[in-house]
Formats: sequence, C-alpha cells, structure tokens
Amino acid sequence: MQVERDSIHVPFLDLAAQHSSIATAISEAYAATLQRADFILGHEVGLFEQEFAAYCGARHGVGLDSGTSALELALRAYGIGPGDEVITAANSFIATAFAISYTGATPVLVDVDPQTYTIDPERVEQAITGRTRAIIPVHLYGQPADMDPVLEIAGRHSLVVIEDACQAHGARYKGRPVGSLGHAATFSFYPAKNLGAHGDGGMVVTNDPAVAESIRMLRNYGQLQKYHHISIGYNRRLDTLQAAILRVKLRHLDAWNAARRRHAASYDRLLALADVVTPTTAPYAEPAWHLYVIRASNRDALRAHLTTRRIDTGIHYPIPIHLQPAYSDLGYEPGSFPIAERAAEQILSLPMCAELADEAIEYVAQTIIGEALEYGG
Ligand SMILES: *Cc1c(COP(=O)(O)O)cnc(C)c1O
Repeated sequence: MQVERDSIHVPFLDLAAQHSSIATAISEAYAATLQRADFILGHEVGLFEQEFAAYCGARHGVGLDSGTSALELALRAYGIGPGDEVITAANSFIATAFAISYTGATPVLVDVDPQTYTIDPERVEQAITGRTRAIIPVHLYGQPADMDPVLEIAGRHSLVVIEDACQAHGARYKGRPVGSLGHAATFSFYPAKNLGAHGDGGMVVTNDPAVAESIRMLRNYGQLQKYHHISIGYNRRLDTLQAAILRVKLRHLDAWNAARRRHAASYDRLLALADVVTPTTAPYAEPAWHLYVIRASNRDALRAHLTTRRIDTGIHYPIPIHLQPAYSDLGYEPGSFPIAERAAEQILSLPMCAELADEAIEYVAQTIIGEALEYGG
C-alpha cells in the first residue's frame, strides 16, 4: 500500500489481495474438481460440510446455495410455516426477515442493545405470543448475540433458536464458537463474508441429525434417494467447486480473523480521542470483526469527507427492516424500534479485511480526526 497521500485509495475490502495470497492452492483445488467432474454434491461438498461443522463445534453441516437458503430451510426443517411467528432483530440484513416470510411465517421484530447492536433478550420475551415458534438472534457485524438469556427464554417457552451467524464465522461466545449455541445455525459464504466463496454459498450446522437430514432432503428436490421425492423440495445445493475453494480458505480463517482483530484494536486505539463512538465488545464476546462499525452524530458529512479522501465506507444498514416498503404490511412505523432507528442514522462501517495495511488504518483514523478539525464537527 502506498503512503503517498494523494494516490492512496482505501477499499472497503480487498478480495483480490486475499486471492493472491492463496492463488496456487485455489487453482489446485479447482483443477482437482475439474478432473473429478463431480460438480453437484461431489466429494468436496461432504468434506467441507464435515470440516466446517467441526470448526463450529457442531456434528452436522449441510451445504446450501446461500445464507438465505440456510435460514429458510432451517426454519422449514423445524416445521415453521403459515400462522407461525418468528422473532428476530429489527436491524439485521433483510435476508433474515425474508427467509421467515418465504416459509409463510410472520417476522416479529424487536429492538436491539444500543451498545452491541444485537437482539435485546428482554424485548424478545415481551414479543412472545401463542404463535411464536422460533427466535433468530443475529450475530451482527461478527459480534455474538447474548445467547444465554435468549436460550433460557426459548427453553421456558419451548421455542427453537436458530443463530444467524452469516457475519460471524469464527466468533466465540463465552469461549464457545457461534454455530454450536442454538438448535441450528446458518452461515453465508457470500464473497465478502469472513469466509467467502467465488459466488454464493451457505450452510446450516446443527447437532440434530433429523434436522440435518431434513435439510439435506429439502435442498435436493425432496429426495434422499434419486427420483424418490418424499416432499416438495428445492434446488438449493452448495456447488462442489465452491466447497473446494471454501476448504482451502477455511484453513486460513483463524489467521484472517486474528488480523481483523488486530485491525479493530488499532482503530480502537487511534480513534480513542476522536469524536466518534467505537464498537463495544461485550465481556462474553470474541467477535469475528466482519465489520468495524463506528457511530457519528454527523455521519453523512463524515462519510462524504472520507469519500473525498478516497476511503470507501459502508452503512449496515441504512434502513431498518420495519421501515422497508417490503414490510409496510407488518404495521410497524417510525418510532417502533428507536434504538435500531437511531443507529441506522449514525452507524458507519470503516474499511475492514484481513489484508488491510497498518498505514491504511492510520490514514483512515487521521482523516476522521481531521474532519472534526476542518469542519468543527
Ligand atoms: C449475508 C447475510 C445473510 C444472507 O446470506 P446470503 O448468502 O447473501 O444469502 C443473512 N443474514 C445476514 C446477517 C447476512 O449478513
């Protein structure tokens, strides 16, 4: 990375740099799969399922075509459908709610903790009705949700808990990996996630063999044996080529997450005196640092300033789920979830990936501090 300030560009993440660090191993994995030509549910899919489930401390893994499918098929495997309610966080990526809707169930949204941005267990309890069947806590930005109170509430009400771990590969809660905490957990291998494929991919991990088998059936036309269709299933399989790539990348995930952790610590240190709020790590959490999200009261001005200085940023997410036109029929309105709404106005995701250079972090931090000096913000 160049330190010449005029030519510097800090991308939000750098997938090309990640690829060049492992290009040879990826090419070999591709070549081996091309040789075997078992493109659908091939050799590498089964191996990756075992390896990734083991990585999460879970017994079974079922490879799917996306994280969204993982959420939907996990819900379906637990029999969730029309008339049921599923509780999740108002500030998640839209896919969490869409997956609930695809089953015919109704998403019931709740507000989040203002510090960690993860689901507030007290509000979960308040949202439970006679129709509630499941809770989907989201490990947003790679920060694990506070699972023990959620599991305790779920236990008392006989509810299923499905972790949305799509941003949290490798995060830990009280020393245990996410993915092994609820009844099942869902992961996405979208390219920009901490563990990303060369396209879409996803997985459900669970300790429940019946649930794993049910998802295996649903992802493959409702069959376990070819041309014997037990139920109306789908085509939602993880590609063998993607599994081959993901197996190579999984070997690097802990090192990449450790680099993200160091970058987060650098941002924390360099921004300590800046007029922004840096992320809070709960005492129970070892985050995966999928995103490094700050808060600023003058967020839009700050973002524009960073863009001028060629620093790419993101907002995850600018509009909470309950204020999306797609969900106008749920009956929520502005003010329904004030913590999520206020966060949406103030959050800003800074560049974050394992390959981020120390100079880039310093440049980003100096530019944030400089903005306050220039504009009096
Ligand atoms: C990425 C993501 C999903 C959806 O995963 P896809 O693979 O893109 O379908 C679901 N939930 C969260 C929190 C995500 O970040």
